[in-house]
Amino acid sequence: MTSLQPARGMHDLLPGDHQKHAFIITKALQIAARYGFCEISTPMLEFKEVFKRTLGTTSDIISKEMYEMASKGGEELVLRPEGTAGVARAVLSNGLTQSMPLKFCYTGPMFRYERPQKGRLRQFHHIGIELFGVDSALGDVEVVSLAYDVLKALHLEERVTLEINTLGDEESRTHYRTQLVAYLNDHLTKLSPDSQTRLTRNPLRILDSKDEGDKRILENAPLLKESLNTASEDMFASVQEGLQTLKIPFRINPHLVRGLDYYCHLAFEFTTTDLGSQGTVLAGGRYDGLTRTMGGPQIPGVGWAGGIERLAMMLREEDLPRPVRPLAVIAMEERFSFKGLELAEVLRQEGFRVDMTYENNLGKCLKKSNKINALYALIVGEEEVRSHKVTCKNLDSGEQMLVPQEEIGQFFKDTYPQGRTGHES
Ligand code: ATP
Ligand code: MG
Repeated sequence: MTSLQPARGMHDLLPGDHQKHAFIITKALQIAARYGFCEISTPMLEFKEVFKRTLGTTSDIISKEMYEMASKGGEELVLRPEGTAGVARAVLSNGLTQSMPLKFCYTGPMFRYERPQKGRLRQFHHIGIELFGVDSALGDVEVVSLAYDVLKALHLEERVTLEINTLGDEESRTHYRTQLVAYLNDHLTKLSPDSQTRLTRNPLRILDSKDEGDKRILENAPLLKESLNTASEDMFASVQEGLQTLKIPFRINPHLVRGLDYYCHLAFEFTTTDLGSQGTVLAGGRYDGLTRTMGGPQIPGVGWAGGIERLAMMLREEDLPRPVRPLAVIAMEERFSFKGLELAEVLRQEGFRVDMTYENNLGKCLKKSNKINALYALIVGEEEVRSHKVTCKNLDSGEQMLVPQEEIGQFFKDTYPQGRTGHES
């Protein structure tokens, strides 16, 4: 027999986790819909090329984090590590490029072969959005604003910081790369081994290094903003103006670079100090070159993805919607069980949550009813069956009354209307 543990880095989502995930997803999709974004789902398995071409072979994801497999037919497949490349692939393969803009939101599991730790899993979940076809700062600002609204809906906006930076356009980055490489070459031997390799393959990524020695060297490195051409400067200034207009607080972090090749201009992250070293909860940016590297036309794009597990870890119990309190059905004898189930069915049809107590001992059943936080117990015994009535006991006040069976739906609709909705708050 194989181990009873899930595979390393993979987690079960128990009902308590699900409640948080569902809350985050519901809020995010609701707000995305308010901005005119429509939900899209792409497969969890894609051809490796979809990611290899676009994320860049030197990115952490491609170089070490992908779950790869071959199909029986010999195709190279991967479990998706992120959503953007798959959504862009879907835009191209479904021929959606004719009507811009396209506004998509999505949620689902992502897979990365990383060292598992708190807030870092091998299967985790993203909530994300992508806006295609808007090349102005308006798109960037709207997308960040959407993220901010989601964080506000989760009551997290006070506990996160929005950090932004610009990677400029291609011309600015090429200029900067030369400056940075020249500077880092002077400190080559003191750089971490990882960064030494990156220096030839992808020097910009060194800016993102977590190595303390690298960080010290980077303190005096030339900054990307000194290499920006006017167009890139203007674009970044507009983004800032937009954020200020919407009163979204932000901080410019000149060392912020995103780990993937397809980004240009805006890069941003919402970070927190509440989660230890896994401090980024939501991150994104502009990726105007993405569809072209896939072999499609050039379509500007901007978007983000939030880590649902990290967001869930930040949620406070009191901010979660309280589940609707159920009604508990108690059949005093086994022969009344189906009578009880019939009653439950009537009330479920009316939209109430009804739990059976499954036993025939009043004391035990009342205890169970309290344990599931039921508001009422509906008791069906000999007397009730004979008189076609039900004893309805309010478990908070202890008050009880006999309600005719045929009026039971109406009775609860009148006395407990909030029990019919999905959630109370
Ligand atoms: P990190 O720097 O933490 O590795 P990243 O830059 O790789 O993050 P993105 O690819 O931008 O992350 O994904 C967006 C969000 O998804 C992150 O901000 C984070 O909240 C979440 N995320 C990324 N990787 C993981 C993981 N292995 N486990 C849990 N959440 C993750
Ligand atoms: Mg990562």
